[in-house]
Amino acid sequence: MLSVSIKTHRERPNKKTEIQMSNLWKQSGVPHKGWTLVDVIDIREDGQSEDDTSYESCMMCGNEKIRYVHIVTHDEIDEEFRVGCICAENMTNDYVNPKRLERELRNKATKRRTWLKKEWKVNQNGNRYLNYHDHHLLIYKDKKSDKYKVKIGEIFGNKKFDTIQEAKNAAFNGISYLKDHDQW
Ligand SMILES: [Zn+2]
Repeated sequence: MLSVSIKTHRERPNKKTEIQMSNLWKQSGVPHKGWTLVDVIDIREDGQSEDDTSYESCMMCGNEKIRYVHIVTHDEIDEEFRVGCICAENMTNDYVNPKRLERELRNKATKRRTWLKKEWKVNQNGNRYLNYHDHHLLIYKDKKSDKYKVKIGEIFGNKKFDTIQEAKNAAFNGISYLKDHDQW
């Protein structure tokens, strides 16, 4: 039997569970082939620093400190497995897409880093703004909550943030979303 707990897509794994993991490539009870790649995620997608990152371990080989987590499923296994790129390739027998999706996330992470370094201007109300690709971006203080909110063009974001940096990160996510949906 597997000693791993069922995890949903975005949930952080329980550290203790990870430590107990052994190399399942050496065990016959777990299928080594026939897995399907569901998604690849960057566990630092919220712009957190390296120190704040809870890296994961590969559920298949136990390899530690994985940032780009490949989520794979198998008909015979109830739960999703969160693994590294090489294990994902071997489990899915797909040597193109796991690497490609991880590369896309790496590129996005680089863009995010560059984005977060941008200097925003301060308007006469004391709010940060940035004119970016013909779009007016604004980070303003919500009077009720005293937290920061983001406006992209004419779109007001709903979420509130404690810091300007978090709001800038959210603006990046908002722009990415609009780009992905051809609304940018
Ligand atoms: Zn692995």
